[in-house]
Amino acid sequence: MAYDYDDQNIFAKILRGEVPNTTVMETDHCLAFRDIQPARPEHVLVIPKGPYVNYDHFAREASDAEIVDFTRTIGKVCDAIGVSPDTGDGYRMISNAGEHGVQEVPHLHVHILGGASAGRMVERG
Ligand code: AMP
Repeated sequence: MAYDYDDQNIFAKILRGEVPNTTVMETDHCLAFRDIQPARPEHVLVIPKGPYVNYDHFAREASDAEIVDFTRTIGKVCDAIGVSPDTGDGYRMISNAGEHGVQEVPHLHVHILGGASAGRMVERG
């Protein structure tokens, strides 16, 4: 299966430093930054630096080091913005993929939403 990565997507431009962002955390393999149109008081996007279109692409093709770093960074961001249920009030983690996932930006990203209730998971269709 071939995933077609578009290196002109806005997150690729952020990673190349062509578009500014509000960074929350950066690691060897990931960048976490604030969503430009926050849907909750805390709304952070975590992306791998590698050219992965969505989560299943990443799961198939990323190295173990990238996968570990991405997973750990998500946890560290939850702590850093105070939404971990361990110390705060919780969060919703979302990763949209493709047409039915209603993904706008074709570079893997996980949304971390907190600071207010996320509501029901998904409306029953
Ligand atoms: P998705 O629908 O899951 O692809 O979500 C894409 C998200 O990227 C949306 O929540 C946008 O508000 C966000 N977004 C788009 N452009 C930027 C940007 N330049 N900086 C930060 N977030 C952005």
